[in-house]
Amino acid sequence: MEGGCLCGALRYRVSNAPFAADYCHCRMCQKSTGAAVASWMDFKADQLTWLNDKPSEYHSSEYARRGFCGQCGSTLSFRDTRYPEYASLAITSLDDPNQVSPTYHIYTDSQVNWLRIDDDCKRFPQGATNQSD
Ligand SMILES: [Zn+2]
Ligand SMILES: [Zn+2]
Repeated sequence: MEGGCLCGALRYRVSNAPFAADYCHCRMCQKSTGAAVASWMDFKADQLTWLNDKPSEYHSSEYARRGFCGQCGSTLSFRDTRYPEYASLAITSLDDPNQVSPTYHIYTDSQVNWLRIDDDCKRFPQGATNQSD
């Protein structure tokens, strides 16, 4: 699968399907993406190749690094410096974002009350995985 940012300056390729994919309702994802909910897919770091250049990174918390395109500002990646073997990418950055479907929700404590979700996915009030946004 391949994807990239809005302006096309940053492109990536992943060699495998993600091992997990989630919706994140945390305030940091809301603020940084501008969307009501972010959707992330998780890979082993060595399955991800940046084809041109690597994203710029912002330290959104002590361990979190949020990757974005320095030209167009698109949200692209997330990583936790405590777990360097993992890398997360925004599902919506895929050329075909229908290729991956999130299967659970995290940080639903901060889900906006005007967003109605009617699915069977498991919901976690806080984080659920090995990563904390
Ligand atoms: Zn860009
Ligand atoms: Zn989040």
